[in-house]
This record gives sequence, structure tokens and C-alpha cells, in this order.
Amino acid sequence: MFRILIIISCLFSITFATTNQDLLWKKGDTLITFLIRHHIDKDVYFNLSKTDKELCTEIEADVEYRLVQANNGLVLHALIPISEEMQIHIHQINGKYVLDIIPVIFETKTDLLTFKLVESPYQDIVNLTKNKQLASEFIKAFQKSVNFKKVHTGDVVAIKYEQKIRMGKYYGSPVILGAFVRPQHQDEKYIFQNPYDNLYYDEKGNSFTGVLFKIPVAFKKISSEFTYKRFHPVLKYYRAHLGVDLAASIGTKISATGDGRISYFGTKGGYGNTVIISHDGGFKSLYGHLSKFNKKFRNGSTVKQGDIIGFVGNSGVSSGPHLHFGMYKNTRAMDPLKLMSSAKKTLSGGLLKQYLSNSRNIKAELERSLDTNHIPLKLSDMALFSSVTNKKKI
Ligand SMILES: [Zn+2]
Repeated sequence: MFRILIIISCLFSITFATTNQDLLWKKGDTLITFLIRHHIDKDVYFNLSKTDKELCTEIEADVEYRLVQANNGLVLHALIPISEEMQIHIHQINGKYVLDIIPVIFETKTDLLTFKLVESPYQDIVNLTKNKQLASEFIKAFQKSVNFKKVHTGDVVAIKYEQKIRMGKYYGSPVILGAFVRPQHQDEKYIFQNPYDNLYYDEKGNSFTGVLFKIPVAFKKISSEFTYKRFHPVLKYYRAHLGVDLAASIGTKISATGDGRISYFGTKGGYGNTVIISHDGGFKSLYGHLSKFNKKFRNGSTVKQGDIIGFVGNSGVSSGPHLHFGMYKNTRAMDPLKLMSSAKKTLSGGLLKQYLSNSRNIKAELERSLDTNHIPLKLSDMALFSSVTNKKKI
């Protein structure tokens, strides 16, 4: 059905002139303001399920979205990302607008990058890959273990990473699967990402996260779990819930999950009264459906772990009093309960075993990439010997 619609819309595009633009989502815009501006019936939003209304609140300022319009300004298609892997699709069927949540089409590339330092780790990574996000992710990942003032020209760096590519451009946050820095006069340092919680640890399983997050509320039960992207086989559509719903009585205290700075303090679409806190290491926590804020704080305030930021309620779209609690790293939503359960300094038991076997394989791959490649000394000789090891279409 979807394919037929695409073919019809393509035929339409050929017959009638259209404009096809990639635009940046304006700060402060909501889906409702977007619908009003483009004369699209607001019911496309109001008819959505509670979960999908929450998802529509996930649109980030400055995200790139696609707008296809007829010459008279009529919107034929709008594709607006709500996470790295899901997007809102607004289009018309029989002259009526509909809104679907569909997957983003992208490619994931896995690369091995090995080089000897010329300028600095950050600058060399940018020079070799043109990927500034990868360079800053590398610096953030190692900032707790490597003193970058003491690394010098000639020191060896190896990185295995994944990067999404969409419409020919880097897309979403790069993920470092494993990396090492091998200084000539210091011990080498490793980091590996644990596939269980997507956090970085050293080769023994000690955490580098630095922030040990805590459950923010004394809840009665989990009323809805985290789902990043799941296809519903019966209803035939994609579902996502980018946080966990923790049921608790109205007025229950909500505390900051970790130290940080408040970056949002107000109402936010389907999440109602919302607080967002930015933490070290690119983490963010989101608290939705509050009945009241703690007036002691406002946007920009610094908070300590455990500070009361507000109280449980059911503002926004909510069927009963609960806290919608979301955790994000860079632009990617993470399962808050997994993050809390591994909020210890060192992995142990089954989690450690799994982590060690995964990191051993990556370490061996990084070593092999050193053996099979000459390491050039000057950037001018430095043919980038990163190699595409795995490509998959999603
Ligand atoms: Zn929720």
C-alpha cells in the first residue's frame, strides 16, 4: 500500500511542479505550530494514541526534516525525525491528511581507523574522517582515563566505530565500539562500549561514565517499558516509547537522577510539565507529566543528584498519574532502567563475562588493523587506512 502511495505521489510530482526542501526544525516549534502554519488539519495529531502523541514531542530543535510542497504551498509530504531511527510521515490519502510513524532509512557503516598522531587526536580524526562528532565522542570517551596534554606526535590511536549515513551525509551519533590510545612513554588505554547499556568501560570492565544515575521516584509499578523501535506484527505499524513510565501517586517527589544543569523547565507537548537535565558525557534526563515544579529551580539552574525538581502528576497526555522518565546519550534515547541497573563502577557476573568476550574480539581486530597497515608518520603520507568491514541496510 505504502509503495503504491509513493508511486502515485511520484507520478503526481512529475505531473505537477513540486518543491522538495530539507529544512531545520525551528527552536520552539511544536508539531501543532507546524500543522497550523501549513494549514494541515490538527486532528492528525489529536487522533493519535497517547504513546504516539508523546513521540511527537520528541522532535528536536535543528533536526533536518524534509518538506515536499506543491507549487501553491500545499504540503504533499513531510518527513520529520523523532529519533535516530523513527520519523513522522505526514501525507494525504484521498484528500485527507494522515500521520504515520515510520522508520528512517539509513545505512550503517562500521570502520576501523588507525593512525599515528600528527596534530592532536581531535584534529587528526577530523582530518582523516571529516567527522567532528566522532572526534568529540572519542575525546569524551577517553577524557577520564587519558591526559591529552601528555600525548605526542607518533603515539598510536585505533578506533572501531559505527556511523549512520542518510542521504549521503553522516547521520545521528557515531558509536565507538572499541578504541585504544598507545602513547610511547605511558601505559596504553582502552575503552569498549558495552552492548548491554551502551556505556564505555575499560578492558577490565570499570565504568568511564562518571555519572552514576539513580531512579528518580519511589514508584509503585512500571506502567510502560522502554521500546526503541518495534514492529507490531498484528497491527502492522511501528511502535516506540522512548522512556519508562513509573506509576506513583500525585504529588510524589521527583528527584534529579544525577548532577547536572536544567536545560528545559516548562510545558512540552504530550509530556505536559517537563524538566530536562543535561549531565556530563552527553547524557540528558527527561521527566514528564509533572503536577508541579519545584519553584526553587528554573531553566539554567544547577542541580545535584537527589534534588527535588518537581512532583508526579498527569499533565500532558497521560491516562493516570505517573512519571515519564527518559534518558538520552547525545541524540539517542536509551533504556533508563538498564542505565540504572548498571550504575555501578565495575561490571560483574554474567554482564562482565559477556562484556569481556565482546571486548576481546574488538581488541583483536584493532591489533590486526595495526599489523596489516603501515602506520604513516606524516599526515601527507597518511592514506586513510580505515576499511569498511561491515555494511548493512536497515
Ligand atoms: Zn511515557
